Amino acid sequence: MRVWLATGFAALLSLAFVITRGDAQPNTLRQIAPGVWFREGDLQQGHCNNVIIEMKDYLIVVDANFPSGARAVLADAKRVSSKPVKYVFDTHHHGDHLYGNAVWTQIGAVTIAYQGVADELKRYEPARWQASMKERKDVADMKRNAPEPPKQTFTDTPHVISDGTRRVEFRFYGWAHTRGDGMVYLPKEHVLCSGDAAVNGPYNFTGDGNIGNWPKVLDGALKLNVEHVLPGHGPAGSREVLVGQRAFMIELRNAVQSAMKKGKKLDDLVTKQNGKQIASLKLPDSVKNWVGDDFASQVKDAYNEIATGKPAGDLPH
Ligand SMILES: [Zn+2]
Ligand SMILES: [Zn+2]
Repeated sequence: MRVWLATGFAALLSLAFVITRGDAQPNTLRQIAPGVWFREGDLQQGHCNNVIIEMKDYLIVVDANFPSGARAVLADAKRVSSKPVKYVFDTHHHGDHLYGNAVWTQIGAVTIAYQGVADELKRYEPARWQASMKERKDVADMKRNAPEPPKQTFTDTPHVISDGTRRVEFRFYGWAHTRGDGMVYLPKEHVLCSGDAAVNGPYNFTGDGNIGNWPKVLDGALKLNVEHVLPGHGPAGSREVLVGQRAFMIELRNAVQSAMKKGKKLDDLVTKQNGKQIASLKLPDSVKNWVGDDFASQVKDAYNEIATGKPAGDLPH
């Protein structure tokens, strides 16, 4: 999801969420497998989802969340286990997944990410952090000028943590939502935490992404033995979340490409109505779960990718 969600936009998203998704359960823990809990983030507060994984002597948390989200996750982790949080895995560099890093390191946890996350921070920060400070009290209250980068990074994938009770694999399949997209795979439990490379609902931000490469990244993930997909936003699901998110990116790109072949320009595909950008394209109903408020900007990103031959995230934005 977008990094610096304005409060009004976040509230709007959240409303859409409540109306369209009866299965949403923000701020609750759900046990997915013994010692593995999924916590659905509160979109109204801009929070991402989190996963808590219990090891023999400690906990691993997937995503640092925003600072206020980090504190909420920590409180929930304490309700289910007395073990300390040892590792926090940042799935990517966006604020809703990483800006809480310093909250976790202050309690002694080690933040860890794929090297691409640290590289993305160098590209986009501290500008986004400073914009976020103006919109979010929890970020401003951290009294920092920039986000805290992950303390540990890895380049060889999978990066494995195993203690005899459980095996946790940090994996990288390429550039989809960001250049740093990391996923967490639990081979025994058949669980995949997909970050924002696959979300369950219309929550994807393609501005830092690579729409053309996105399906290949999810092809990699689909080769794993996955039963439970725990996405960066939206409810927990099955492999269908990966399949559907992949299909959405393909349908999006194909629809834009065939319109361009008919001579359509960006101004024909995205128009402004009452100050809001509206896309004139329609995708098949099979991917409607992923079509929402960000659709016009996704059409624009796909158009620019095709027009320039470069990933959206490589273009000025
Ligand atoms: Zn997100
Ligand atoms: Zn994101």
